[in-house]
Amino acid sequence: PSRTEKNRRVLLKLSGEVFGGGQIGVDPEVVKSIAKEIADVVSEGGVEVAVVVGGGNFFRGAELSQHGMERSRADYMGMLGTVMNCLALQDFLEKLGIPTRVQSAITMSQVAEPYIPRRAIRHLEKGRVVIFGAGAGMPYFSTDTTAAQRALEIHAESILMAKQGTDGVYDSDPNKNPDAVKYDTLSYDEFLARNLKIADATSVSLCRDNGMPIVVFGLQPGNIARAIRGEKLGTVIGP
Ligand code: UDP
Repeated sequence: PSRTEKNRRVLLKLSGEVFGGGQIGVDPEVVKSIAKEIADVVSEGGVEVAVVVGGGNFFRGAELSQHGMERSRADYMGMLGTVMNCLALQDFLEKLGIPTRVQSAITMSQVAEPYIPRRAIRHLEKGRVVIFGAGAGMPYFSTDTTAAQRALEIHAESILMAKQGTDGVYDSDPNKNPDAVKYDTLSYDEFLARNLKIADATSVSLCRDNGMPIVVFGLQPGNIARAIRGEKLGTVIGP
């Protein structure tokens, strides 16, 4: 696929818990502030932004299945939850004058385009923010893995993974271990060998096999904009 020469292109992964502000459902104030950061950077020009949105603020298939639901059906509920987050983000971005398209991996033509990679790239080239919903459309996958796949398919330079309640990757849980040490950089292999949980292993191995860098950073105010601008922050997982 073609690509304009001057623009950078990034894929931002927002987990569902970001949208809920720690609760079930969508916290409009939180989504508004995230949209503002994205809008500010996009308006400056020079960078194309695609977003993969999680859904953990509504349903996680693995959790529902522990309560007796069939895993695949529960996963579809999880995927549908992501679409609600997409629409919320779309709304606040458009209120700020940023053109957007939502593309869903599960067809629902009234609310979103189907996932069509070449069309997504065209939108990006035209300055639209493309928001990917419904994960990969497949049970047993995660939106982290979707982020890796989409980043690769649209030729993004990196995945910017925004996480609630941390500011990068630590060698152990900083909430439990006061001596936990934060990595500035970390190899894919070490991430996987240490069984770190901040991104799932499938997504990290997909990035490893295809050389896609992952920047894990916290949601302190301004960080989304900084990450999109390419500033160094959080932890970079790479070769
Ligand atoms: N999901 C899925 N396939 C996908 C993406 C997501 O089955 O390709 C389901 C899965 O049940 C997951 C839920 O959707 O628990 C919400 O996604 P995820 O947990 O990745 O969201 P996040 O943790 O980023 O909020």
